Amino acid sequence: MQHQPPAPPPRHALDALVDVTTRRPRLSRLLSLVAVLVLGAACIVVFSIYARTMDEIRRDHRHIAERHAREVEYFMESRLDTAQAIADMGSSLLNEGSPPLPWVADALAPVPERYGYALNHDSAPPFTAGSSLTGLGPVPLTHDTLREMTMSLRLLILLREVFQRDNTTPWVYYTSERRFMLIHPAAPPSSFFFEDIVLELPFHTLARPDANPARAHYLTPPYLDTAGKGWMVTAGGPVYERDIFRGSLCIDISLRQLQGIASHHLKHDVRIVITTPKGELLADSAMEGDMSTHDSLLALPQHLSQAMADIRSQREVGVMHAGYTVFHVPLNDLGWHLLLTMPTRNIANDALFAALPVGGILVLLAVSIWLLYILAVALRTNRELSIRDSLTGLHNRRFFDEVLAMELARAARGERGFGLLIVDVDRFKEFNDTYGHAEGDLALQHLARVLVSSSRELVDMAYRLGGEEFAIIAHVDDALQLDDVARRVCAELRSLSLPHTASRSGILSVSIGGAMLQSGEVSTADTLYRRADTALYRAKQAGRDTPWIDGLT
Ligand code: GH3
Ligand code: MG
Ligand code: MG
Repeated sequence: MQHQPPAPPPRHALDALVDVTTRRPRLSRLLSLVAVLVLGAACIVVFSIYARTMDEIRRDHRHIAERHAREVEYFMESRLDTAQAIADMGSSLLNEGSPPLPWVADALAPVPERYGYALNHDSAPPFTAGSSLTGLGPVPLTHDTLREMTMSLRLLILLREVFQRDNTTPWVYYTSERRFMLIHPAAPPSSFFFEDIVLELPFHTLARPDANPARAHYLTPPYLDTAGKGWMVTAGGPVYERDIFRGSLCIDISLRQLQGIASHHLKHDVRIVITTPKGELLADSAMEGDMSTHDSLLALPQHLSQAMADIRSQREVGVMHAGYTVFHVPLNDLGWHLLLTMPTRNIANDALFAALPVGGILVLLAVSIWLLYILAVALRTNRELSIRDSLTGLHNRRFFDEVLAMELARAARGERGFGLLIVDVDRFKEFNDTYGHAEGDLALQHLARVLVSSSRELVDMAYRLGGEEFAIIAHVDDALQLDDVARRVCAELRSLSLPHTASRSGILSVSIGGAMLQSGEVSTADTLYRRADTALYRAKQAGRDTPWIDGLT
């Protein structure tokens, strides 16, 4: 004969049992939720720190660009203002109409090889020693020219002062329409002597009334110095005698000086360039060596010309150009632009670096909580395994002992009474002998299902105590109700009609012994168990397949 394996007990019944026996699932679910929340929070925090740091770095670099721009402007404006002030002083001296210094005419000596003349320092006062005055043509002896020369020599004290304040200044000089030039520091005639071409160079032409009707100070485009001091720009101011333009007073600024300002206090990955609107490089902090000594003016690097194109078309700068972030500060008064550039990747790396510690801690926290969750699950599983019988899925003897102790205590406190049923399969040894051990196991599973379904869910619970012996702790009020539960078990099993040839009825049956403990009654597990076991013995004596409740008959 073949027994069909029983269907597993209904899910809801088992779930309910699990919930009653252990409250840990809630804890572990909570832990997993917290872990996920912390992980989510970590992502949000890391991202917000990252974004904020990116903003901060950008803001810092904009400040650096602005600071350098102010430095350049201050540097240039101080020279423009000085040139203007000295030029104005020159104009005042001319307008005063004071006579020429008597020694000037005597100190001029012809220089035939240059078709001109120069100030002879041996016959001039010592204060002229560090400067040179050269002119074209015969030694001028006209009153007006000598007056103008006197004016320029009177300015010499100021020109020397300018040079002494910043001796990186290439030249300071006065250029006259009357074809002479006073220059400081002194240039030997071999490197510089006045020529007519000088009057056509921007540092002078920009002073002329046609180019500069407002008689304001001016700034030249970058040019290569004819006296060998490299690439420079010039700040100048026009000198007038009443309404007649007489000459220009100039202060040169070498590109080397601008490069020094651009390179001031910069991190290695930050680059500052100063450029004309045409893209001519006036200064570049990334440039090794002296910018002013190159053969030609350098052009902007590719990514910066792109940025300049954006600036010209009035698009927003401060965004990316070929992997670089570019900040732009216009130097409006000078007509120049200052660009600060930095690899965008470095900004992102720095921001990430700032976000990592906090993010790391939060991720670690999330992982710890996650591990706690895994531990809680493991503990729950362990607990489940330790209180469950693997063959039938019922709770085992260990859990039975716990519940029984709890119920005894409750009864003793007068909270509620209960009944204990011990269920034992009839002639199971012979069942095994007849059908084999595997069939015996199947029969025990059937019985377990009967016990679960006939014990009232949640209120009563069934246990496998060991072997073919089971128990039910039933929350009933008296022995009669307990008897009802036991009879239901016998009847339900009988209704399954599992064949058992060695049994008197020919089908599998159980005998059940029961004992009742009333609310308020005090007993021990041993005593109660012995009472139920004795009742079971009675049931067996009475012919099996029947309950026997202690004290009922
Ligand atoms: P009685 O009606 O007096 O209870 O007779 P019995 O044969 O059931 O009594 P006994 O206690 O002598 O035999 C119990 C048998 O239950 C012995 C053993 O072969 C069998 N048994 C115990 N545990 C298991 C089990 O897990 N699986 C199977 N298949 N059989 C088991
Ligand atoms: Mg037995
Ligand atoms: Mg038995």
